Amino acid sequence: MPCWRNYVGGPTMFVNGVTLQNRGLPDSHRLSVYAGTGGYGALRKVLLDPMAPDQIISEIKKSALRGRGGAGFPTGLKWSFMPKGVTGTKYLLCNADEGEPGTCKDRDIMRYEPHRLIEGMIIGAYAMGASAGYIFIRGEFVEPIHIVEGALEEAYAKGYLGQNILGTDFSFDLYVYRGAGAYICGEETALMEALEGKKGQPRFKPPFPASYGLYGRPTTINNVETFASVPDIITKGGDWFLNLGKPNNGGTKIFSVTGHVQKPGNYEVPMGLPFKDLLAMAGGLRPGRQLKAVIPGGTSTAMVAGAAMMDVTMDYDSISKAGSALGAGSVIIIDNSVCIVKTVERIARFYMHESCGQCTPCREGMGWLWRVMHRLENGQGREEDLQLLLDVGSRIEGRTICALADGGVAPVVSSIRLFREEYEYHIQHKRCLISMGVA
Ligand code: SF4
Repeated sequence: MPCWRNYVGGPTMFVNGVTLQNRGLPDSHRLSVYAGTGGYGALRKVLLDPMAPDQIISEIKKSALRGRGGAGFPTGLKWSFMPKGVTGTKYLLCNADEGEPGTCKDRDIMRYEPHRLIEGMIIGAYAMGASAGYIFIRGEFVEPIHIVEGALEEAYAKGYLGQNILGTDFSFDLYVYRGAGAYICGEETALMEALEGKKGQPRFKPPFPASYGLYGRPTTINNVETFASVPDIITKGGDWFLNLGKPNNGGTKIFSVTGHVQKPGNYEVPMGLPFKDLLAMAGGLRPGRQLKAVIPGGTSTAMVAGAAMMDVTMDYDSISKAGSALGAGSVIIIDNSVCIVKTVERIARFYMHESCGQCTPCREGMGWLWRVMHRLENGQGREEDLQLLLDVGSRIEGRTICALADGGVAPVVSSIRLFREEYEYHIQHKRCLISMGVA
């Protein structure tokens, strides 16, 4: 089954998509189709009307667009950090490395709406005075890479990229860079290191990219979905976008709903949609199953108990109040047929494998967490193991260069808090509570 479904139309409580709005059209990746639906109108507006760079940034701030890559940082504020009046190159980067398990949205924007991404980047470059940009795409995304490269050729041919765009004195060059597939390269400074041809490892911050980024130059980096939201904000206004969602959580968001639902896929919905409505859109659970837990933002976010999730709305603030994070919007549904210990053991193995190894707490700690989880899962757990996992987790959190380690700890600690009896059953009975039909 293709990993996406774009919600377009239907009950009035939902809106048409913003970032995947053309997805249902034939050849939606072509410039002619995008232009036929008003595409590049926002670029014409900012360059030919014209809009001052500060005006663009204040419109983005008004929209309450928050970074869609995971951190949820306010986009307009981030854009305002780029220094003005500096000589030399400023860079604009797009993080299209999408490696969070459960996330499959950015690849669909690139497949179906590459020009929306490109237009958003050109507008961002104009607003921040960047003259060069890269779209850093995960190397396995062969089809999206070819499509984005084709779209860049079309945009150059039409005069939307290159020198003197649309006859103005604004110039911007944009390139595709293929990543090599390391999860850590989705971290912004590791991505820059990789772009520079080095090992993809995060840098200490500060300095932050706006002052010292790619090749030591001022740089801003945003996610694919973030840039793809920009053209409609410029065309229809920041207030319009804000009102699609809720205060501090503007617009729509694509949620990649995976796991035990009947219709897994990408759903673009307004920010603030009740979780239970999203679950219903994804076809609900399989017959006879109950919702056990939800990982609402990808495997690096904490689990939430299924019953508690029913009162949560799908926005940054509500999910944070529920003790987790919206992350990149990968919603993993776990029903009562699932062994939590086995699930977390697999997640722990992923983070052990993806640690870049720079920080001792992460390099050693991720392996330690996995080894304890592995013996628990294999019926060799010890009474003291749960406390050991919590202790190791608490000595990792907040002590590393980047957030990968905290992300690796979150599912372990949250699952022990929520499903302690399942862990204890593994320890006492040397087998799984689920396979025994006890749960
Ligand atoms: Fe590398 Fe882990 Fe340290 Fe991040 S936390 S820099 S992934 S060792």
